[in-house]
Amino acid sequence: MIRAVDVHKRFGPVEVLKGVSLDVSHGEVVAVIGPSGSGKSTFLRCLIHLETIHRGNIEIEGEALVRTNAQGHCQYVPPADISRVCRKMGMVFQHFNLFPHLTVLQNLIEAPLTVKGAQLKEIVPKAEALLQKVGLFDKCDSYPSRLSGGQKQRVAIARALAMEPDIMLFDEPTSALDPELTGEVLATMRELAEDRMTMIVVTHEMAFAREVAARAVFMDGGVVVEARPARELFAAPEHPRTQAFLEKML
Ligand code: ADP
Ligand code: MG
Repeated sequence: MIRAVDVHKRFGPVEVLKGVSLDVSHGEVVAVIGPSGSGKSTFLRCLIHLETIHRGNIEIEGEALVRTNAQGHCQYVPPADISRVCRKMGMVFQHFNLFPHLTVLQNLIEAPLTVKGAQLKEIVPKAEALLQKVGLFDKCDSYPSRLSGGQKQRVAIARALAMEPDIMLFDEPTSALDPELTGEVLATMRELAEDRMTMIVVTHEMAFAREVAARAVFMDGGVVVEARPARELFAAPEHPRTQAFLEKML
């Protein structure tokens, strides 16, 4: 579903991704862990083209987003193809990013209407079903400001799903929440995983990563230090940097 090879990303002179590679297969849940500043968010943002890369290849469901030739020349596909490829992915951010001036239901139908040209009579029932799924159907007509952080994040997940992505990217979806609200968001993500959604989850929730993810990827300093079946990586980290990180986290 996702193939990233040797992805390099610079901000000015600073290289923050130094050749990151990752393959994710259909229905797989991959947890990305690592210290702050290691490039986890940047990597997700590159996958969905919120950032451009300087070298490497990214392919989504077998379609190239960007390729680098033998001369080291990095080229993106044409803009229309970029949009189409990126629409296969939905992303959920730490800070929800809901539209504050729209109700919950309007938040869900906005992108399908404007980006996909969906019809109201089709998208409203779909949006309602998604809100039912995340347990927030009764909040259809509420504005985001009336919701708890956990509810906002569940709306953000439903909103991403309303575009019918094949892949979901989560960037620390529970890091901005009070501890008592993280559980409801993790439960929603766990259900998605059980439905066989392909997911990359950047998280500090180590128990979630260990239990829900098939694979865990430890990033540090802009590289993948260790990528292994999640249970193995947590039970017996091989690399000293992974060991040191997990000792601090657990
Ligand atoms: P993580 O998500 O693992 O905490 P990030 O991907 O956010 O790490 O950041 C990796 C590095 O890139 C950090 O040193 C950060 O300061 C830097 N960085 C991220 N975004 C930008 C940006 N827009 N401009 C300049 N530097 C950035
Ligand atoms: Mg981050």
